[in-house]
Amino acid sequence: MKMTIFEKVLEIYQKIEDSESTICLHCLGRMFSLLGTNTSNLERGYSLLLSLTMDNHRKYLSTEKELRDESITNLKILADNANFSPAQKVLGDEGLDSARPRDNKLCQLCENIFLNLEVYIEKAKQIAKDFEFNNFLVGTSPASKIINREDNFKSESSLLNSESFKSHFNREVGKKLSLVLNKPVEYNNPEIVFVYTISFDKFHIDLITKSLFISGRYNKLLRGIPQTHWDCKNCSGRGCKICNFTGRQYQTSVEQLISPEFLKSAQTSESRFHGAGREDIDVRMLGTGRPFIIELKNPKKRTVDLNKIEKSVNKTNKVK
Ligand SMILES: [Zn+2]
Ligand SMILES: [Zn+2]
Repeated sequence: MKMTIFEKVLEIYQKIEDSESTICLHCLGRMFSLLGTNTSNLERGYSLLLSLTMDNHRKYLSTEKELRDESITNLKILADNANFSPAQKVLGDEGLDSARPRDNKLCQLCENIFLNLEVYIEKAKQIAKDFEFNNFLVGTSPASKIINREDNFKSESSLLNSESFKSHFNREVGKKLSLVLNKPVEYNNPEIVFVYTISFDKFHIDLITKSLFISGRYNKLLRGIPQTHWDCKNCSGRGCKICNFTGRQYQTSVEQLISPEFLKSAQTSESRFHGAGREDIDVRMLGTGRPFIIELKNPKKRTVDLNKIEKSVNKTNKVK
């Protein structure tokens, strides 16, 4: 640890040769993310550059020529390479430079993704519109180009206290999305996960929704109905003359008789039926019935009216 954190920051910006690029405040902050707590990476980045500006302004106001010369060099690095407006202002006010804020600089690490998170929020908001959920989580899969560039940068400057693109993105998007959707982030068991696949120039979102499990009990008043769907033994489900091209060994099943009402209520098309225990086709199931669980995958609705479903199932199957 020969260098102070300020020397490290100056070194980072000194290295930037391309006048079109910089390191944004978010990315600067996350290079020191493990240091200090109860703050954000943006605040870390801003605080570092502001402190540096103040320190060098102080040196500039001192009487030692050597210190003054050094401070001017540093202030110029902060004004030009870091595009930091307080440093630009100090230089301007002291009559040293007329560096102006530039808005066309591109962050070498995030290519300004962290400065424009609104597009990522807006897209998620649109997708979420059709789904009912109480909480969510953000996940990210950054392109290897993003990761490699960052890894090189960190190792070149021996930055050992940094946070990855991925965790910064997850947290910042999670915070903003939580406000927009008015729903909390849930880490352990989220009902919906927004998975961002992200590269510098494009991204898309996949939704992973938690299945909805509903347990119930069924009575089977007729013999000859299997619990779940069986493929035709002759054609393995492809459809043949024997099965009348249905692909089914039996014309129906408990699963097929019960599921549609659940699917309709949860607004999905995919389900799995889990019956408790084995049941022979040619027996009835009377009395309190056999427990079952129906798993509804990718449900758009999570609140379903179970009484209504029960009535509809019974009505459709002519159970009085
Ligand atoms: Zn950045
Ligand atoms: Zn068949």
